[in-house]
Amino acid sequence: MKICEKCGYESEENKEIKPGIYLCSICRQFAPSDKIEGYIQEKIDWKLLETFRKRENKNLFGMQEKAKEGKIMSRAAFGYKIVNKELVIEPTNSLIIQDIFRTFLEQNISLNQLSKKFKFSVNGIKKILKNFTYIGKIKFSGQIIQGKHPSIISSELFNKVQSKLENLNTKP
Ligand SMILES: [Zn+2]
Repeated sequence: MKICEKCGYESEENKEIKPGIYLCSICRQFAPSDKIEGYIQEKIDWKLLETFRKRENKNLFGMQEKAKEGKIMSRAAFGYKIVNKELVIEPTNSLIIQDIFRTFLEQNISLNQLSKKFKFSVNGIKKILKNFTYIGKIKFSGQIIQGKHPSIISSELFNKVQSKLENLNTKP
């Protein structure tokens, strides 16, 4: 019997991804292309798994697989470009993105000043600072999941920026 090595789900649809190691369709969605062993041992988000299991149907999965591969992305976020339907880093603009995140975090600068400095609208700057794409993730049917594209910002920097943004919002 083909039993998913990560979650234990038993199905004929499970695929052998390494000799003797089967993964179910859902665990495969989140599997990295390398470090499979580490992924299998990682704690399972059962709630997320259940959500996906319930919605399990071929259309949705086909779409999700494409989304993960960056293949249904119509427009690249600033800092990326689309090459062969995949999201790749645009060197010059990605440096600007890093500069925006660092400047916002390290300097005592308002969103207004920041937007002027980098020639974006205030809304544009806010969208950039909140964009999960820059840490290699994508949003798919309301869930933030790991994408396949490279990140531009470290999660640490991104999280610090989110805290600072929240603090700005709570200031009187
Ligand atoms: Zn599984």
